[in-house]
Amino acid sequence: MSTKALNVVVIGGGAAGFFGAIACAESHPYARVTLLEAARKPLTKVEISGGGRCNVTHACFDPSLLVQHYPRGSKALRGAFTRFQAKDTIAWFECRGVQLKTEADGRMFPVTDDSATIVNCLMQSAIDAGVQLRVGAAVKSVMRSGTTFQVQLKSGEVLEADRLLLATGSSPVGYAIAQSLGHSITPPVPSLFTFTIRDSRLQNLAGVSVNSVHLRLQIGEKTCLEQTGPLLITHWGLSGPAVLKLSAWGARDLHDSHYQATLIINWLPQYNLETLRQDLLKVKSQLAKRTIAASCPVPIPRRLWERLIEQVGIGEGSSGPVRWAELSNKTLNALVQELTRGQYRVSGKGAFKEEFVTCGGVNLKEVDFKTMESRCCPSLYFAGEILDIDGVTGGFNFQSAWTTGWLAGQAMG
Ligand SMILES: Cc1cc2nc3c(=O)[nH]c(=O)nc-3n(C[C@H](O)[C@H](O)[C@H](O)COP(=O)(O)OP(=O)(O)OC[C@H]3O[C@@H](n4cnc5c(N)ncnc54)[C@H](O)[C@@H]3O)c2cc1C
Repeated sequence: MSTKALNVVVIGGGAAGFFGAIACAESHPYARVTLLEAARKPLTKVEISGGGRCNVTHACFDPSLLVQHYPRGSKALRGAFTRFQAKDTIAWFECRGVQLKTEADGRMFPVTDDSATIVNCLMQSAIDAGVQLRVGAAVKSVMRSGTTFQVQLKSGEVLEADRLLLATGSSPVGYAIAQSLGHSITPPVPSLFTFTIRDSRLQNLAGVSVNSVHLRLQIGEKTCLEQTGPLLITHWGLSGPAVLKLSAWGARDLHDSHYQATLIINWLPQYNLETLRQDLLKVKSQLAKRTIAASCPVPIPRRLWERLIEQVGIGEGSSGPVRWAELSNKTLNALVQELTRGQYRVSGKGAFKEEFVTCGGVNLKEVDFKTMESRCCPSLYFAGEILDIDGVTGGFNFQSAWTTGWLAGQAMG
């Protein structure tokens, strides 16, 4: 092992940059690691993540299952997760005194429910490892000079680096630096967003949620995506894990279609058409004298039920609210269709403040995922969101940042 001091420069003080810098400084004591962050404060996304609680990772410990949560990057991450996966993330934080807990849906948070716990842990670990953190240090460009790099700051200062880790997230400057060093960039587009839907069936129902719906998203002629999970009605349309996952899997096609698509909602995935029809027929004979609006026989919120029956014309009849006995077979069939195959027009992309990532970035074929080193430019490394990798919501985006950061840190010595 060489004992010559090695100048390692990490650009980007986010999750991936911190993990890379700490891993490098801890495993290579002869490396002088400098971490450059453009903002006045590092780790701002970690701080606001998970609604201020930081969804650190996901309780999924089989790399082959873990990769299934990445619309882009799953193949490249397969090997990377065999080297550093969610279990390793838990152990990494645990041995630094941070305990994580698992919620019912598999998401993992610090037991304090406070992202400051994660921010403080990363800051302290960087200090302990001897990482030199510089804030307000925006990098403008990087030049290759022989086997080293000249890192030019906006201030005019130039730093020399033997190894360079680019962990600039979705920053355009980061993409430009990667391109200037020979890389191609898959055009960045947003992922993890809500759907804008203007539809009378959803009006004034903001805040109503359903635990499990089945969604089918038709984008143009070719793309049809499906998801089952919780759904939330918002002021502007639909949100919740099932919608966010669809937005991730369909991110590029939705962008190309200008966010125009058709969403088919099955509010009752636990039934099929026939079992639902039979159940409603039973209700019709058992509750014949009761009004349909007042007796919702299926597990959806009452206000939603009232809106859906209105849609098929069962709200008020000429002699007051319609009773079950008055329900014709034709209307019953229409109700079954509405409950299981309602069509909604997606007309745009909403803003989602809980989590938002970029699909696109450095072309994965140009990176060796054993080390995260560039295949185009020796001694250049990548980690985190700058890569063309993104996961669905649930802690997967941080997990890929921890993994790629850690691998790069190990390899840069
Ligand atoms: C609101 C919100 C909540 C989220 N919640 C979660 C969650 O709970 N769980 C989860 O898994 N994911 C979550 N994500 C996604 C997650 O935050 C990102 O995937 C992750 O932060 C990516 O880490 P990164 O280090 O690659 O990039 P970033 O966190 O974006 O860090 C990049 C850093 O580089 C710096 N930088 C950029 N350009 C330069 C330059 N030229 N010179 C110097 N510095 C530069 C930036 O200022 C930034 O600090 C959330 C995202 C958002 C927006």
